[in-house]
Amino acid sequence: MNLLKDYFELENILNIEQYRISQIKSWAFKKKITDISKMSDLPKTFRENLNLEFHVLELDSYTPSKDSTKYVFKTKDGYFIESVLIKEKDHFTLCVSTQIGCAVGCKFCVSALNGLVRNLGFDEIVDQYFYISKKENIFIRNIVFMGMGEPLANFEHLKKACFIFLKEFGLSKRHLTISTSGYTNYIRKLKSDSFMNSLNLAISLNATFDELRQHLMPNVMGSLKELIKELSNYPLAPRRRITIEYVLIDGVNDSLEDTKRLFNILKALKHKIKLNLIPYNPNPFIDFKRPKEKNVYAFQEYLLKNDISCTIRWSKGLETGAACGNLSYKKMISSDL
Ligand code: SF4
Repeated sequence: MNLLKDYFELENILNIEQYRISQIKSWAFKKKITDISKMSDLPKTFRENLNLEFHVLELDSYTPSKDSTKYVFKTKDGYFIESVLIKEKDHFTLCVSTQIGCAVGCKFCVSALNGLVRNLGFDEIVDQYFYISKKENIFIRNIVFMGMGEPLANFEHLKKACFIFLKEFGLSKRHLTISTSGYTNYIRKLKSDSFMNSLNLAISLNATFDELRQHLMPNVMGSLKELIKELSNYPLAPRRRITIEYVLIDGVNDSLEDTKRLFNILKALKHKIKLNLIPYNPNPFIDFKRPKEKNVYAFQEYLLKNDISCTIRWSKGLETGAACGNLSYKKMISSDL
């Protein structure tokens, strides 16, 4: 029996009162204690007979750097997934994977190099957070579903995982962010789910015309026009905005013409969005270059001047291979997946 894997059936499986299950969850998830013998408010004989595991992932390795740590986990069926803990000024953020590999096939992303292997279960999504917060003995305030995989392609498991993050770890909806490549049918599904659409949303845009977007993100379905239409009536809580992510790649999508086109695409949404520019993180497997700093700033300046809220995210974790679009390649490419 496993606390995460069997989370939704514990009462039936264990055949004990609900309050005992709540006590066990509180020890594990809130106090981060998984040694049953230390769960002092449970009767001794009950503890002795309780055969319960707490994790579904095994930590393979971790690589710390100044402001982030990359963790590589091994799943029960022998695949590797990665998570990145980022130290912000006053809190921690965890970038979590939702699939093994990815089917979207973004040309700038190493996670896509082997295609999709499988979805992660809700237990595997939650365990990345549970394992790391326990190991480091910290409260991780923010989760971004921005690791390996397209989170909305794994909608039901993502939803269950988010439910557990709120209920057991006390996280707030406004600190969970779904980062999607923006299939229009996934966005429609998200809009119709009142729990999921109350989380933060980030859309990976990356191009200012359909041909280039199709080239950079080959398996994304739906045109830019359709995507913007879906976002125009996205249900947003007061003062919340959709984040638009735009990976800037040298000579591909970082020209002044691109900036102008981007403004034209986004101007109708300008009070609903904030734009995040992400200078591309080079890696040995993909032949794209990081944009020149002056181009990045010129790109931002034009949009700011035209009243589009726009920040630059100089990725953390670059030196550990943990930056955006870099997840998993070292292990996966060298394995037989
Ligand atoms: S950037 Fe995200 S959606 Fe695109 S291939 Fe990589 S993991 Fe998948």
